[in-house]
Amino acid sequence: MTSTLPFGLAGASSRRAFLHRLGTIGGSSLVMSAMNAWDLMAAPAGPRPVLSGRPAKNRVLVLGAGTSGLVVAYELNKLGYDVHVLEARSRVGGIVWSVRKGDTHSEIDGERQTCTWDDGLYVNAGAWRIPHSHEGVLGYCRELGVPLEVFLNDSDANYFYGEGAAAGQLAGKRIRMREVKADLTGHINELLVKAVDAHQLDAALTADDQKRLTEFLIRQGYLDSTTRTYKAFADRGEGDPIALTRLLEAGFGNRLRSVPPMEGTMAAPMFQPVGGMDQICKAFQRALGPQRLTFNAEIQSVHQDEDGVTVRYRDTGADTPVEMKGDFVVACVPLSVLSGLDIALSDTMMQAVKRVTYSDSAKIGMSMKRRFWEEDDQIFGGHLYSNLPIGEFSYPSNDYFAKKGVLLGLYSNGPISDLSTRPIAARVEHVLMHASKVHPQIRDEFESAYAVYWRRVQYSLGGYATVRGAALREQISKVENRILIGSAATAPRSLPDWQEGAVSAGWQALESLHARAMRT
Ligand SMILES: Cc1cc2nc3c(=O)[nH]c(=O)nc-3n(C[C@H](O)[C@H](O)[C@H](O)COP(=O)(O)OP(=O)(O)OC[C@H]3O[C@@H](n4cnc5c(N)ncnc54)[C@H](O)[C@@H]3O)c2cc1C
Repeated sequence: MTSTLPFGLAGASSRRAFLHRLGTIGGSSLVMSAMNAWDLMAAPAGPRPVLSGRPAKNRVLVLGAGTSGLVVAYELNKLGYDVHVLEARSRVGGIVWSVRKGDTHSEIDGERQTCTWDDGLYVNAGAWRIPHSHEGVLGYCRELGVPLEVFLNDSDANYFYGEGAAAGQLAGKRIRMREVKADLTGHINELLVKAVDAHQLDAALTADDQKRLTEFLIRQGYLDSTTRTYKAFADRGEGDPIALTRLLEAGFGNRLRSVPPMEGTMAAPMFQPVGGMDQICKAFQRALGPQRLTFNAEIQSVHQDEDGVTVRYRDTGADTPVEMKGDFVVACVPLSVLSGLDIALSDTMMQAVKRVTYSDSAKIGMSMKRRFWEEDDQIFGGHLYSNLPIGEFSYPSNDYFAKKGVLLGLYSNGPISDLSTRPIAARVEHVLMHASKVHPQIRDEFESAYAVYWRRVQYSLGGYATVRGAALREQISKVENRILIGSAATAPRSLPDWQEGAVSAGWQALESLHARAMRT
């Protein structure tokens, strides 16, 4: 069975193909909703390991200061290990990057960008929302004193906008979520009340239950209590109700469920750190202290023998080679990077590392002179529900009523035509052209953009890991004498496309390393 509904979650002959299609056409929120429906979503990392004891040989070098590396280093430090983190960039966080004024990067084989937004404006180019069930990440926020605020996913004020045959006769029209909800419910309730009146439900319901059900349906669906029909009413918005057949044809209702599933992006509340997702990694950095972290340390090689490990890195500031020794290494760099390093892993392990693929994730933040979505459309966070080729277009859940704001103009986890190879200005124009169909003001209000295409970012070479199969995950989680991998790709419980996965992977590496070190 293959879904033909751009806004729907119906099954597909190939789950992966369907997820990919939703990602490129319908936006990542649809992918995540669909993944959730198939139980593919990230589970909480479970309880944090409780470890004790400190081995005599306890010098650990952690490679990479993303979420997984910071979790490993933070916990080892608490256990009394002599831990040191080596990070190629001049900041912590890795994929967790809140882009602000002055931030800059060059795309591999591409252009250099520098963010010119006003102070205080930012976009989370990687991780941006935390489900309330992700107790691993949220536990660290509590422990490290990271203030959180609500991240709004769903809002009745937000628009549906469909294009092409998939949207049927509603193509090209902006329709609020509240109109879709009210009209679908109203029409369906009217049908049900009429079925009760026509004695079509007599077999299923007693006379008393029919009476109570009718009262419920009339009240819930805003039906006229005399005529029992659904008509326009003020709270759904101006205009006549949209016909049921049009709504079904457009598939908008497939975005709705009775209650949101617990896992994934739909179950409220979700959270974001006040001031940017990078606040969590910065809190880890503060807790570790400056003496345990070296920036601008680009790992070149990792060797091991019976006595210990030797890591060679390039100090990218001074452009000089540096050597550092330890008892163990936890490699928390992306496997897309690890596979290119001179590292003493077995052939079996290296083959497994190379089989892990990474998503083609991209985000474009667009700063606006005026928060027109709030002022003109009364939209306060949440997303646009569209099949436009911009993935997920999203409104900020922070700094409401400020003068300026940053829209997430594009978020995709798969390629959108050849966009990633076009000049940055052409990618931004693509977003402006499509987004102006829903928000005609966007061109006048646009200030400047910052595009992050993770496949083309040095030290990432992709978005999140997509690890196929338990056997592969188990292989890359093995300890190879004094070296083990701790990046999110190895996550035993949560998936690598969540920070919870990075926490789960970090905890697994921590336990494996401690068990290995205590044996020496
Ligand atoms: C677009 C996108 C959206 C996401 N959205 C969410 C979300 O909403 N919520 C959520 O919880 N999660 C989200 N995630 C997932 C989350 O960001 C990741 O699971 C997590 O950040 C991965 O952490 P990590 O430490 O394994 O890897 P990374 O963050 O990649 O860290 C690896 C570190 O290694 C460093 N490094 C690389 N090469 C070298 C080298 N040669 N020498 C030294 N250091 C090196 C890097 O600079 C980096 O700091 C999202 C991911 C993406 C891509």
